[in-house]
Amino acid sequence: MSFFRRTLNPFVIAGPCSAETREQVLEVAEAVSKMPVQLFRAGVWKPRTRPGSFEGNGKVALEWLKEVKSTYNLAVTIEVAEPEHIELALQYDIDVLWIGARTTVNPFQVQRLADALKGVKIPIMVKNPVNPDIDLWQGAIERLERIGITDIAAIHRGFSTYQAASPYRNQPNWPIPIELKRRKPEIPIICDPSHITGNRELVADIAQKAMDMGFEGLMIETHPNPTEALSDAAQQVTPGTLQSILNNLVIRNQSMPDNNMGMTLENLRQLMDSLDAEIIDLLARRMELSERIGAIKKDFNMTAYQPERWREIVDTRGERAEKLHLSRDFIVSLYEKIHDESIKKQLEILQGILNEVKS
Ligand code: PEP
Ligand code: MN
Repeated sequence: MSFFRRTLNPFVIAGPCSAETREQVLEVAEAVSKMPVQLFRAGVWKPRTRPGSFEGNGKVALEWLKEVKSTYNLAVTIEVAEPEHIELALQYDIDVLWIGARTTVNPFQVQRLADALKGVKIPIMVKNPVNPDIDLWQGAIERLERIGITDIAAIHRGFSTYQAASPYRNQPNWPIPIELKRRKPEIPIICDPSHITGNRELVADIAQKAMDMGFEGLMIETHPNPTEALSDAAQQVTPGTLQSILNNLVIRNQSMPDNNMGMTLENLRQLMDSLDAEIIDLLARRMELSERIGAIKKDFNMTAYQPERWREIVDTRGERAEKLHLSRDFIVSLYEKIHDESIKKQLEILQGILNEVKS
């Protein structure tokens, strides 16, 4: 049974971003040991974006984590980024390792870590890469699977962006972890609302959203005095706040409990299946029209893209959407995709790659 699934739902990991002092580590550990927290986290080597910041206490912090294990009977986890980190972590009986977002981006480094783990039986968590590339994330997990690691979880910590106006430090991009779940249903997904939000005020919200999505766990950075933290000060919460976040979480069921609402759900899904079939049939008919238009454009030597017409489509479809209480942005972005595909087909017609459909 997976380490990440054999305990409570959700699987909760808490602890400071960095192990700063023995006292700080033990204070958080004592507090979280009284909560439904299954794993204690603390960064021992910190990957900092720019040099000159606090880079972790290294080996001495491993002693403090050993004390957490023996005093509070808590399993402990640290980030490893080098084979030497793994060697030391194993020497100090660390229970679970995690690969950080800045390491997952680098297949060479992930492979070096995987090679260092050959023959070792330890659960590993793989954070998503900083860039929104699901294949890199999946690839890192597969490198571990290939050398025989069986107990793996994925951590969703959000993705970097150059978008100025976002409330989040890292964009959640929910479709990415959801697609990972579709591709690898056996891998539990743990959400890290601390690194997604970068803001303690928003942590509870994202934690709840992860539960609504059916994720299996949460990793929440917890510090006795967050504003004084040596790393990630804006996003860490106090143990008291962690307690209230956990108390207020609504945990959802993955499937329908046994009752007759199950029938209603099934009926609604059948209706949705047939509507989706109609939508696809309509799109096929629309594409056929677009190809006929393409043939006319070719005959009259016109461009495939007609800005006036596109503007008109955006306006009229957007207006219609709003009348039906659908979001204008949603419908416009849907039409961007449809229009792109139309133009692609018409370009093929103009270039003579696709046969003209004349009727
Ligand atoms: C961390 O968990 O403190 C950390 C450095 O995370 P990430 O790799 O997600 O940036
Ligand atoms: Mn951190």
